[in-house]
Amino acid sequence: KDVANRIAAGEVILRPASVVKELLENSIDAQATRIEVSLLDGGLKTIKFKDDGEGIHPDDLNLLCERFATSKMTKYEDLLSISTFGFRGEALASISFVSHLTVTTMKETSDFAYQAYFENGQLVPSDRLGTPNPKKCSGVKGTTFIVEDLFYNCPLRRRSLNNSKEEYRFIIDLLMKYSVRYPSVSFSCKRLESTKYDFFTPCVESELASIGSVYGKELTEELLEVGAFTTTFSFRGYVTNANYSLRRPQYLLFVNGRLIEWQSLKRAISSLYSSLLPKSSYPFVYINMAIDSHRLDVNVHPAKRQIYVLDEDNIVENVLHSIEAKLSRTSS
Ligand code: ADP
Ligand code: MG
Repeated sequence: KDVANRIAAGEVILRPASVVKELLENSIDAQATRIEVSLLDGGLKTIKFKDDGEGIHPDDLNLLCERFATSKMTKYEDLLSISTFGFRGEALASISFVSHLTVTTMKETSDFAYQAYFENGQLVPSDRLGTPNPKKCSGVKGTTFIVEDLFYNCPLRRRSLNNSKEEYRFIIDLLMKYSVRYPSVSFSCKRLESTKYDFFTPCVESELASIGSVYGKELTEELLEVGAFTTTFSFRGYVTNANYSLRRPQYLLFVNGRLIEWQSLKRAISSLYSSLLPKSSYPFVYINMAIDSHRLDVNVHPAKRQIYVLDEDNIVENVLHSIEAKLSRTSS
């Protein structure tokens, strides 16, 4: 049974950045305003992830890493209108099946923090640890996750991930994108053994301000604002004008608060720009979309975060129109 769970976990957790993404989304759901990531070997050895969110009640620690344990869905109707992505209650379980996981958490109303060790979806028995599990300790409001030895029990997967610099970059890239979508959250990333941040964003007042702080002020002067509003979806965003380009494409596509791989939208926007930009030149595209959750199917591949959405063609066309209109008004 553990083997089957481990295989399932390997579909959700592909690399250290997948762990960070799941933890990020949980922290944002928990109203965190400050998220600090510290990594050893690009997260392959250790991911320390700290938030200042609402914390987890000690009574909930017991089942925290049980598959399908979620506090975000209490009735059947919720299932029909999930506003967040992913298989519910799958993330922490998956992480615990492929790593050694320590959770330290404290609620604002509590005098203590609690620390718990998990393995294979369960609390490690306290007689094996020689200490109570969970155990009381001192702490501050919020939750800290320590994920160690990722894929220690999946040797093939572990061996295929051997470039810790690359894993580090994936994580920074993810944090850069989320910090645009969540300007009121401060994000940081550093090496565990270092005190110097490799990435830091303060809390700022707007998405445009965070684009400036993360991707550079110069970029913000080349952006066009796009957007549209319908009864079933709406979006806002910023895209580069046709006289400006990047050497690498940047697509920050968020749906209902989550960064997703939206291949068809990406392809459509990319072909629009390729007809306007010189060779090997690419746009920056940030789209923040809200879609009526009844029209979204979230039960698709959990890690790739592809979505199935009713009337997708119509949405893609709408976004293209909005970008096209802005580009033609400002070019020439
Ligand atoms: P899901 O996000 O789908 O509910 P997860 O496995 O990601 O499932 O998380 C399980 C539960 O653990 C969440 O529903 C939430 O109650 C709690 N949780 C996880 N991370 C945090 C956090 N950073 N702060 C507070 N609660 C959290
Ligand atoms: Mg989650």
